[in-house]
Amino acid sequence: STPDSTHHKEVRGATETARATYNIVFVTAEVAPWSKTGGLGDVCGSLPPALAARGHRVMVVSPRYANYDVVPDSKGPQMKVSVLDTEVGLYHHRSKGVDWVFVDHPSYPRPGGLYADAFGVYGDNQYRYTLLCLAGLEAPLQLQIEGSTFGDDCIFIANDWHAAMTPVYLAAKYRPGGVYGNARSVLAIHNLRHQGVFPPKTFATYGLPGHWYGALEWQYPPHQRQGSYEEEGRAVNTMKGGISTADRIVTVSPGYAWEILTPEGGWGMEQMLGSRAYALNGVLNGIDNHDWNPQHDKHLAQKFSVSNFSRGKAANKAALQKELDLPERPEVPLIGFIGRLDYQKGADLVLGVLPWLMEQDVQLVCLGTGDVSLEAGMRWMENTYPDRARGWVGFNVPMSHKITAAADILLMPSRFEPCGLNQLYAMAYGTVPVAHATGGLRDTVLPFNPWDGTGTGWTFSPCTTDAFTGALRNTLETFREHPDSFKALQQRGMERNSTWDKAAAEYETIFGWAKIDQP
Ligand code: ADP
Repeated sequence: STPDSTHHKEVRGATETARATYNIVFVTAEVAPWSKTGGLGDVCGSLPPALAARGHRVMVVSPRYANYDVVPDSKGPQMKVSVLDTEVGLYHHRSKGVDWVFVDHPSYPRPGGLYADAFGVYGDNQYRYTLLCLAGLEAPLQLQIEGSTFGDDCIFIANDWHAAMTPVYLAAKYRPGGVYGNARSVLAIHNLRHQGVFPPKTFATYGLPGHWYGALEWQYPPHQRQGSYEEEGRAVNTMKGGISTADRIVTVSPGYAWEILTPEGGWGMEQMLGSRAYALNGVLNGIDNHDWNPQHDKHLAQKFSVSNFSRGKAANKAALQKELDLPERPEVPLIGFIGRLDYQKGADLVLGVLPWLMEQDVQLVCLGTGDVSLEAGMRWMENTYPDRARGWVGFNVPMSHKITAAADILLMPSRFEPCGLNQLYAMAYGTVPVAHATGGLRDTVLPFNPWDGTGTGWTFSPCTTDAFTGALRNTLETFREHPDSFKALQQRGMERNSTWDKAAAEYETIFGWAKIDQP
């Protein structure tokens, strides 16, 4: 089944009159440009300034994984606070109208990635992010910023499982002591696949009264049990704690807000979420108008705008073909893929359509890291089709900008996609997305309709190589046979409103709903 055409999870009723301003506190494991593995970092780097620009007082609390330039080590933390069995430092930095607070603790800096290294996920992630939640709740009360604290009338935005204990502590630790009575919490779900699930005996890590165990306990349906403790089906699930205690729940698109209520998209959480569906909305992410704007993008061979994109994209295409040692042919369709190489992003489907695609006269450039076998697939592709395919294995931000600008077509065969940013970047750069009709992709990529000249790309469903091939066949035919239609598609994509201000206005509406007092 699919959602009806008017998603009921959309935010309606936004009004510009009598706008309240709030003290807003983001708690997040990632914040761009300081820490980022994906869309979560982008959102937490961009949405807060957009809310600040609308008059709110905004703080973002995230781990200090390294010694960030803006708040050098030598200065030391602005203050220290006790949480659990330890002490954390709070470093403060103000820019873009936002108070960025970095939580300092020996467990944050790691030689590997933020959450994992080559040996797998870190064994102490539960502890690391419990500290983050508690630091996020202390910072507004204790940190003096320009002469005042945020105080206890705040709206907390707890992002993904790492921060999902924030609403739980609000309810279990602070409110019983008379603190944060007017505060409200919003759980923002960027990806429900990761829920922060740990063995029951780790409950002690949270330092909560025993009677809160039930709020976190979770029993997986048998087909979803993996680890040994899950074999009995019992676990503590931080995301579940957040879902049951947050005042409101937001996901990153209306389509995903609908999908997580279904057995296919709910990862076992669909009934929990279903019981709170009245408090659940979807708000589409915006894109950063500074970092991802073809008029200002410093990574491009030639900057361009909607008025000269054909010439601008041609220059970027020639430059990329040259850099990657592909034949410099302006007329050949250049197809891009950027993303984590994993089950979600459907990189295997790109490899699946390869035998057909490589028989067409196209060039394909892929960029990504992830699964060892998919990385090997990328290298195999490049070795097998040296005159038309490149599989760049690595995380390379400049290259992602160059591909987005140079490509005519961008592939997004994600099996599921809460929002997806690459299709938004692509459209802003006049690149036409071909996407699986799922989650945020379905909400943002309007299928091309040749009869009334609408749409900004192609979507396909189900998520199979056959359906993917069919969509690509139409795309390539339009590119070759109907260049004017293709150009109009590109232009419509570039004119799409993907501003963060639009998203911020919708979040604001939701905060208003969270603040409505009980009758
Ligand atoms: P997710 O958060 O699920 O990974 P999104 O599409 O929301 O997916 O965001 C992914 C972000 O990470 C985008 O900004 C994308 O450009 C970037 N990205 C992903 N893989 C790479 C890579 N290999 N090199 C550079 N940037 C990448």
